[in-house]
Amino acid sequence: MLVSKLYAPTLREVPAEAEIPSHKLMLRAGYMRKSATGMYTFLPLAQRVLKKIEAIIREEMEAAGAQEILMPVLQPSELWKQSGRWDAYGGEMWRIKDRHGHDYCLGPTHEEMITFLAQMDVNSYRQLPLNLYQIQDKFRDERRPRFGLMRSREFIMKDGYSFDVDEAGLDKAYEKMYQAYTNIFQRCGLVFRPVEADSGAIGGNGSHEFMVLADSGEAEICYCTQCNYAADTEKAELHPLESAPEELKEKEKVATPDCKTIQAVCDYLKAPVEKSVKAVAYTSAKGLILCFVRGDHEVNETKVVNTVGVPEIEMAPAEELAAAGTHGGYMGPCGLDPKKVIIVCDATVMNMHNFCCGANEEGYHWINVNPGRDFTPTYVADIRLMQEGDPCPHCGGTIAKARGIEVGQIFKLRDKYSASMGATILDETGKSIPMQMGCYGIGVGRTMAAAVEQNNDKDGIIWPAQIAPYHVLIVPVNIKDDAIREKAFSVYEELTKAGLEVLLDDRDERPGVKFKDADLYGFPLRITIGKKTLDKGQIEVRTRKTGETVLLPADDFTGTVRDMLEALQK
Ligand code: ATP
Ligand code: MG
Repeated sequence: MLVSKLYAPTLREVPAEAEIPSHKLMLRAGYMRKSATGMYTFLPLAQRVLKKIEAIIREEMEAAGAQEILMPVLQPSELWKQSGRWDAYGGEMWRIKDRHGHDYCLGPTHEEMITFLAQMDVNSYRQLPLNLYQIQDKFRDERRPRFGLMRSREFIMKDGYSFDVDEAGLDKAYEKMYQAYTNIFQRCGLVFRPVEADSGAIGGNGSHEFMVLADSGEAEICYCTQCNYAADTEKAELHPLESAPEELKEKEKVATPDCKTIQAVCDYLKAPVEKSVKAVAYTSAKGLILCFVRGDHEVNETKVVNTVGVPEIEMAPAEELAAAGTHGGYMGPCGLDPKKVIIVCDATVMNMHNFCCGANEEGYHWINVNPGRDFTPTYVADIRLMQEGDPCPHCGGTIAKARGIEVGQIFKLRDKYSASMGATILDETGKSIPMQMGCYGIGVGRTMAAAVEQNNDKDGIIWPAQIAPYHVLIVPVNIKDDAIREKAFSVYEELTKAGLEVLLDDRDERPGVKFKDADLYGFPLRITIGKKTLDKGQIEVRTRKTGETVLLPADDFTGTVRDMLEALQK
């Protein structure tokens, strides 16, 4: 391909909304354009990267015994009603009606569709195990589409689903997918870490997320500095902390003027923050939810959603607090009307003694509050976020944090969908049982963006060689010079013949402009053909990643260039 013909318009300035390197660079280097909020058109260079990632995914999925299918994007509401998710899914689901008024959604995921398929055709244990996958656009009306491809509203996903006779079969399918995912992200040249994303019991192995480590990652990972425990902070489960026994003191209301934060209250009362309880208020489909955690802890909203059983929660407005008989900045668990408010207490709070908390009255707090004696929550649950310094739930070691991009997730669904949707088989004894299912997703566009996030510098992208849109960019320093031009084209032909993917910058531009664009595009190798070197019978090869250059004989370079590329692809 010639750069003069390539549709990759570069930008000098990128829109201010592009905050992170992958978003900025892929716009600047002409890889993609925004079509509408959270929707992008992929230009030829990005499309080549996506195809390479997809090819790696297909190879590894097929090697693990999965078969590719393609399901409709459009899904009838009936299927989602069977699984109970039509109402439970919340605002992210894109719902539409056909001309007859029937409800459909644009698939945010395909568990219902695939279970419906399997329910039709799979009837016997003899047909299992089965693993089917597809690569297709998904639609989610994200609350905050941002960071370009990281969180878009239409995005490419590989979604796969396994079917087995029993849990042992599912465990095996899951293991295989875990290994396939490890291979996929390794082959994409990414530095990643599989982390527990369990929603079951501590130490369960029901789900893993594959996290590409990057400071810009939206996800936070907690990991143990002693053992190999690692979990998505959002999902990390915590044992309640114990408090030393104490004699219970008399509860007392104290004035705390202008103390609106828990720190201000503790400073004013000269109380350690570990002896305080703070509140966060949410509004939900079931009404107002007041959540209580220890003063130095944070609320994990995902856990609150799961505990209360609502599709989503939002910060509660002041009027709603007033109607429930409390006041922002002074919320506490005592004296609330359980008919007006759902009280969710973190399990650690239930082990605390003589703590201070808001008195639901502006300017006042309670001291010496004790759970059980002074209030009864609607729910007691683990609702806090794991934080740095917490004890590891596996070994008791110390937890540290890092940031990551969730590029994939694998999940044991067990019989969640097969039972509700009647996807049963006859087992060896002739008994009808629901199939054991697993589901396995990869964000293809997000994986591409994560690769850029992990591999860039101030000049541009540095593609991992395995997924780079082209391997080599040839830059003739002066295209008008006959000798240079001829050599450039012959190098182009020779490398192309040798199976490399080559781009030739045939534009009549200053070398500085071409070098700048070369760095911005980010191909692994650049070959410069200039007068001085050519007169000495040499061409220059530069590695984008290291900036190192080597001079090679102008009539004997293909083997070395191929070796250099292969070394980068390892
Ligand atoms: P997140 O927690 O980031 O919202 P998710 O857990 O909802 O993602 P899954 O349902 O597990 O996502 O989807 C599988 C994969 O699809 C994710 O691991 C991610 O790589 C990708 N993905 C999910 N949502 C988006 C999105 N809005 N834009 C781009 N990729 C996405
Ligand atoms: Mg996920």
